[in-house]
Amino acid sequence: MSNRANKLLIGNWKLNPTTFKEAKNLSQKVIKGAATLRNVEVVICPPTLYLQSLRSSYRGRKVSFGAQSFYPQSVGAHTGELSPTQLVDSKISHVIIGHSERRHLYGETDGQINAKIKTALTKNLRVIFCIGEQLEEREAGNTESVLKTQITNGLKDIKPSTHIVIAYEPVWAIGTGKTATPEMAQETHAYVRSVLKEIGFDADSTSILYGGSVKPDNVEGLLKCKDIDGGLVGGASLKAKDFLALCYAANNA
Ligand code: PEP
Repeated sequence: MSNRANKLLIGNWKLNPTTFKEAKNLSQKVIKGAATLRNVEVVICPPTLYLQSLRSSYRGRKVSFGAQSFYPQSVGAHTGELSPTQLVDSKISHVIIGHSERRHLYGETDGQINAKIKTALTKNLRVIFCIGEQLEEREAGNTESVLKTQITNGLKDIKPSTHIVIAYEPVWAIGTGKTATPEMAQETHAYVRSVLKEIGFDADSTSILYGGSVKPDNVEGLLKCKDIDGGLVGGASLKAKDFLALCYAANNA
């Protein structure tokens, strides 16, 4: 089944909020506000320490919970890591893989990202596979080749799967307040879709999200683009009012 039937909005909370009380408050507001949504899937990705507790206190189905990262093994001596089996056991359905902060701050390679995607799929987790070019790469005219490499290496030896969603996040737009224009984003999303087609994925059925300073005042223009199926949102997911405004815009898009 196509994963493009509904728009998808994902909130990546990173290390925020700083206390569990605030995290609980934020998740409760999002859950309450999401109750009336019809055409949108909402996923929140709180910090790891809060994930299980927030998930277990929620009985509904409107909002799903995702991890921001994980380690691609279920057992073994891997101090400080989070296992996919633990995620599944805690009813966490989604995982972000290849976020630019993992790639650039922690040196995560395409090979490691590929291993994570493979493991996540064997556990039936839904994968939010992030790709994106850095500013120098865009300015040098290398956006397409960078994205093609990230996609082909990240999805190497992986069969087409409806459990994979792509998040295109130009690195220069993440947390900077600079957003790609809808035209720029649409052009790149169409290219990403063409690469997916080239490697044998059912590109027309695969959701491609945009991420990079998505806010209530720019979301409508982005969601009007035919190849943009939702958003991966950092900063604006930390205020329930702003995140819900994005969800409602997606509901009406
Ligand atoms: C992100 O971290 O994936 C992101 C898109 O952040 P922001 O919305 O703050 O740019």
